[in-house]
Formats: sequence, C-alpha cells, structure tokens
Amino acid sequence: MGRLQFEYSWPIRGWFPGKTTNSVRIRKITFLGEINGFLDEIFPAKSTKPKKSRSDAPIAPWSNGISSLSTCYNLSMPLTPRAVLFNTDVRAALQQAWIESRPGLTGGHEEGGFVVQDADGRFRVIRWPRGRQDAIQVPPHPKCSVNDLEIVASFHTHPNTGNDYLQEPGETDKRAVRDDPDLKGADYVGEFVVTQMVIYLIAPTGRVREMDDTQAVFTE
Ligand SMILES: [Zn+2]
Repeated sequence: MGRLQFEYSWPIRGWFPGKTTNSVRIRKITFLGEINGFLDEIFPAKSTKPKKSRSDAPIAPWSNGISSLSTCYNLSMPLTPRAVLFNTDVRAALQQAWIESRPGLTGGHEEGGFVVQDADGRFRVIRWPRGRQDAIQVPPHPKCSVNDLEIVASFHTHPNTGNDYLQEPGETDKRAVRDDPDLKGADYVGEFVVTQMVIYLIAPTGRVREMDDTQAVFTE
C-alpha cells in the first residue's frame, strides 16, 4: 500500500571463493517501489515449523520465513515483453503454434494462445481453439486470468503469406488488445503476432512494434 523502501538480508550457506570451508555470507537486497497489498499477502508464511538454527532464519522481521528469492525478484523486476518472448518454453510453444497454422500462400489458419505464469513463476502456454484463415476467437479470460493463472502475454499467428493479406497487426488486432479490459493485468506485456518475417508486439495501449525476426527467435 503506497511507496515503500526496505532492505532484506538473508544468509547464504555454501563454498565461496577463497574459503576453505562451507561458510555463511549475508546478502542484502533493497526494494523501492509500489506495494499493492499487505506484506503478509505478498509474502505469505511458507512454514510455521521452528527453524533449526538461528542463522537459517531470515533477518527481516516481517518476512515470515521466506527462503525463495523468486518472490522478491518478481517484486523488484517487472516482466518485459522480451523476457516472456525469449523464455525457452514460450518460444517453443510459439513455434509449435506457427507450424500448426500451416503458413503459406494458401491453406493457413490462425492459431493463438495465452502465456500464463504459474505459482512457481514458470511460464505456461494455454492455446486457444483453432482459428479461421484470417481471424481467431479469444476465449473468455475474466480478470486477465485463465484457470486462475495470471495472463502475462497473448499471441496469435498470421499464416497467410500472400500479397492479399496484411502481415503486420491490423486495426482490428490493435483494437482487440487496447479495448479489452481483461488484458490489462499488472504483468500483462501485450500480444505477440507471429508472421513469416517478423514477430510484432501489440502493447496493452494498442501500439505496435517489431520485437525481432521470426527466424532469429525460433532458431536461437
Ligand atoms: Zn491478427
């Protein structure tokens, strides 16, 4: 609730350069940012079991025994379109959808899906039902979520390579993202549009930009 700055310190056990024995070091991280919830909601208690030793216990009094750093990093580093697109699982799923949409002069159909983030912070792709030659229906996604998982991106393909078809996202595509209140989650980065040459991003505002060459993303 409001702006907040705090420091979190925790001990790390391990072999460090120059040390001959297993030793403990203290790492510190400083957050400065907007907090949209109560701390005990953002950092729920993982365990109520007593700690084995004092040095294992986090030092910050409010931290309730969190030991995983991923929660902290999510707070301090917002998702970027690049981080989503270049995630190995996401890239593989986009390539799969692209192949399945049978790109070419004739016979293609649009494919698409949502990229969601599960409780462990892993990206997963939930595909939409198969689309038509130049359109695809987006399944319901109230509150920017599917199956209770937050949507961080969406995507669809433009498989028609003929001159009659627009390769880049058209007005309908832009409006569909811009005017959808359920594609405005805090972590939603936008909709990727996969075409033969370029992967575009439609930002939540409806603005379009080129992310990268399709082949560079798929073969890296
Ligand atoms: Zn489209």
